[in-house]
Amino acid sequence: MAHPLTHTTVGLVIAGGVSHLTAIPENFLICVQMIAVFGSIAPDMVMIFPFVRDFVIRRKTTISIEETKLLSVLKAISHSIIVWCILITIGFILYPTVLSMYLLFFGFGGLFHSILDYFMHNSKEYEATDQPYLWPVPFDLPKIFSCDYRVGAGVLGLMKLWEVLLCMALIYVFAIL
Ligand SMILES: [Zn+2]
Repeated sequence: MAHPLTHTTVGLVIAGGVSHLTAIPENFLICVQMIAVFGSIAPDMVMIFPFVRDFVIRRKTTISIEETKLLSVLKAISHSIIVWCILITIGFILYPTVLSMYLLFFGFGGLFHSILDYFMHNSKEYEATDQPYLWPVPFDLPKIFSCDYRVGAGVLGLMKLWEVLLCMALIYVFAIL
């Protein structure tokens, strides 16, 4: 995961961008834009339960949440670019129904979450717990970038300077959309 604030900011830009792609009734716009923002953080929501289990209930002092087999499967599904593309395709097939709007905004939000994670999950240190991006296909995208946000697997930390700058740039893009 990139920082939740970065994902939320990207979600806002996606919300603005998809609004231009689709004919959204004015009174429906805020609702579907919120769904895009929700979609942009949805893939990491599978980590909420283990996070609460480890740090609230068990009061563990380790820096990372425990990576179980179930969690790694859920992360693989929720971060699968293939799964998000299927949702978006169904959205386009059903367009312009109300359901298609939900699918398109939610789908683009989730898709860009996974793309952002792909760019920001490149540290060798976390390779063992990193999710693949092409589930259920048995091979993954090659790692060709060098940036990584994390201070621990599944751990929230302060945003790095370049991430703050990225968010500011994205907010500016959202403002002019
Ligand atoms: Zn993520």
